[in-house]
Amino acid sequence: MKRILVAGGAGFIGSHLCERLVNEGHYVVCLDNFFTGNKKKVEQLLNNPRFEIAKHDVIEPYFNEVDEIYNLACPASPIHYQVDPIKTIKTSVLGAMNMLGLAKKTNAKILQASTSEVYGEPEVHPQYEEYWGNVNPIGKRSCYNEGKRCAESLFINYHSQHQTKIKIIRIFNTYGPKMDINDGRVISNFVIQALKGKDITIYGDGKQTRSFQYVDDLVEGMIRMMNTDDSFTGPVNIGNPEEYTMLELVSFIIEMTQSKSKLIFLPLPEDDPKRRRPNIELAKKELNNWEPKIKLREGLIKTINYFEKII
Ligand code: NAD
Ligand code: UDP
Repeated sequence: MKRILVAGGAGFIGSHLCERLVNEGHYVVCLDNFFTGNKKKVEQLLNNPRFEIAKHDVIEPYFNEVDEIYNLACPASPIHYQVDPIKTIKTSVLGAMNMLGLAKKTNAKILQASTSEVYGEPEVHPQYEEYWGNVNPIGKRSCYNEGKRCAESLFINYHSQHQTKIKIIRIFNTYGPKMDINDGRVISNFVIQALKGKDITIYGDGKQTRSFQYVDDLVEGMIRMMNTDDSFTGPVNIGNPEEYTMLELVSFIIEMTQSKSKLIFLPLPEDDPKRRRPNIELAKKELNNWEPKIKLREGLIKTINYFEKII
């Protein structure tokens, strides 16, 4: 049994990760400031003797004896990370420093949840890890993508300067049950709007693409990454290379929910990337042939079933 810290553990991805780690027999400490997460997402773990949850903001130092740290603390939806952009930068940068400081003190292994956003508006398609990205440093998304880029730099430098055992994964768009009703990202928005018969909000012309990964595939990739040899730090892309336009996505959701919702077209947010798709060859090679198992339609059914119950 390992003692594992999950920072941001009461969020969408963190709650799935906590559940999987507790089910594997580990002791899990979940830290969260409950900005976009809440205790309800981990309610089935609250009475488990191998689970504890503490309200803590990662911009403040934290100490606990742990063997592994997963650093997920950071709002991930553009509408949430843009509410207080300075706080978002502090969360990514000071949060990474505090978690790395803890890893250094306790000799724990630490994994950073980085993002495909580090590639910005990519000029290379699909995106592979050696690509440095094309990021607007002063745009609306910069609090998030530059914060995450700085965190990657901190991780790599703790590794080279202090031999901290680090792992960096770049997560591509992930969806599934336990996304917040108010999350604001595309799959939860479209599914909720379709189920409620409300207008479905397409930003721009809907021809922009994303590649959507079901949350269980990501969690499997995260755990495999944590268990790689200490010499492998990443960064490594974790995503599903099936690429769709938002118009294709909405047509699947309308068909699957048999919704009568109409489409409305709203302005495209600033710096919204036009195309995104991961190259996952490195993940396959280093993570024991990891690859996503759940196809978009299958994952959408699970997500639609989830939202049907809670809205
Ligand atoms: P989420 O918003 O549901 O979860 C983030 C969690 O972090 C929440 O519980 C929130 O309350 C907590 N948090 C935020 N700021 C904090 C702070 N200062 N101190 C402590 N806790 C804080 O988002 P998610 O989709 O679960 O994303 C989790 C991580 O994965 C994030 O770091 C995100 O950048 C990364 N990621 C997610 C995606 C995706 O598609 N979901 C893609 C790329 C990267
Ligand atoms: N999007 C949309 N309607 C919505 C929410 C998002 O058309 O109600 C678009 C958004 O402009 C982007 C894509 O869907 O092009 C994915 O957006 P999301 O916020 O889910 O993730 P990100 O832009 O961070 O990849």
